[in-house]
Amino acid sequence: MNIIKAGDNRVAKIINRKKLSSEAKYRLSLFTYIYSVNDRYLIYNTLTSEVTELTENEWNAVQKIKKEPVSYDFIKENGLEELAVTRYIVETDYDDVKQYQQTVFLLKTMAGNKKGLSSYTIFPTTGCNARCIYCYEEGYTVKTMTTETADRLVEYICETKHDDTVNLRWFGGEPLANSRIISHICNALKERGVSYKSNMVTNASLMTRELAHEAKELWNLKKVQVSLDGAREDYALRKNYYDPIKHNYDIVMKAVHYLANEGIKVNLRVNVDFDNIARIPDFLHEIKAEFGDMENIRLYIAPLFQEEHDERCLELYKEIFRLTDYQKKIDVARNIIGAHDSVHIRTNYCMADVVDKCVVITPEGVFNNCEHLPEKQTWGNIFDGVTNKAELDELKKPMPVDEKCAKCPFLPECTPFYKNGCPCWFEQCYEFRCLKTEFKLRNLLEGADTETDNEDEEL
Ligand code: SF4
Ligand code: SF4
Ligand code: SF4
Repeated sequence: MNIIKAGDNRVAKIINRKKLSSEAKYRLSLFTYIYSVNDRYLIYNTLTSEVTELTENEWNAVQKIKKEPVSYDFIKENGLEELAVTRYIVETDYDDVKQYQQTVFLLKTMAGNKKGLSSYTIFPTTGCNARCIYCYEEGYTVKTMTTETADRLVEYICETKHDDTVNLRWFGGEPLANSRIISHICNALKERGVSYKSNMVTNASLMTRELAHEAKELWNLKKVQVSLDGAREDYALRKNYYDPIKHNYDIVMKAVHYLANEGIKVNLRVNVDFDNIARIPDFLHEIKAEFGDMENIRLYIAPLFQEEHDERCLELYKEIFRLTDYQKKIDVARNIIGAHDSVHIRTNYCMADVVDKCVVITPEGVFNNCEHLPEKQTWGNIFDGVTNKAELDELKKPMPVDEKCAKCPFLPECTPFYKNGCPCWFEQCYEFRCLKTEFKLRNLLEGADTETDNEDEEL
């Protein structure tokens, strides 16, 4: 056997066994995922994130353990002790879920509990110059942050921030539709000596060369996610800008150049469904011609939010992985960051389950824990502070492990939060995770580690 991807050392230190019991019976851990392709045999531990390649004999022995528990002698005879030490194989009475929970608890305790907020997701406006047919904010009343609210927000950040650099995430609506308020907030923070950096989700159609420079210098903008809709004709139809003469595909391509030329990292998120997917290969060639091998531009293909809840979503995901392989083949703006020596277990899913570190703030200064702004998940505002302590306490409580997740190998990747806490959760989560895992493992065999940064960051 041969480790082809190192896992999280911290987890290994907590869960690995020093000595195996010769009396015990052994089975595969809940967190062991096995996969074989083209006569290569892989075993993946979703808790440690380690991936090991097995020989055919070892693989056959693992298949036997998958069917029924085996003795220590069987483990020894087949040279699988190392898999038992590193917890791919565990004793039959081992409590996988409890071990996972204890590991996360220990890691959180070791990380300490620094006081203060580290991340503020700010909506400068819920308005937008586009009218995407799929916008999940359709129907929201348009609200735009005033200077008075922005001034109070700056006070609020100073009062609540931790004593390190804070992360500002500009979200909307279209945040650039109120870029004035972004500059206002950043100027005020700068005057007060607050250290900050920022990132943004935008359609980029309002980004100019001058603004990109300001974004780098004043906003400390490090990363931007630009949403695209595939080929030019799909883009025009889907974005449906109020003023398509001023705001259109070509303007956005220029904007991406301006941002990238400033050294800002640009992630192009290409939203697909069954209506535009056929034209994506041509579009990928267009992107290659447009951006060549510019280092800081990455592209990833993702389903439209609504499609994730459609019964054909797995079919769509299969197409997306196929296209991502094609993207790799033609070598265009790949979302592949290179070999990783180490990875970290997720101790939280996203900003929404760490309300003592992260907060979302609407244009009116209202708190939320999620950028989709679920109505009931608010507990106060920047003017009055906490007005609903019961709701805040509820959001702070760790989510219990769902019955379905307690039987699923992907629990360490999803965390207990995802299934019952994220509005993006979808019914076919398990099947999707299998597809994604096998895609990643295939890439690993080809020498590329596809750790993507298109997901919500752990905080
Ligand atoms: S660009 Fe974003 S905010 Fe604007 S309409 Fe489209 S999805 Fe909605
Ligand atoms: S959310 Fe779905 S994929 Fe994730 S652990 Fe639960 S059942 Fe598994
Ligand atoms: S990942 Fe889900 S819960 Fe977290 S912020 Fe995004 S939509 Fe909200």
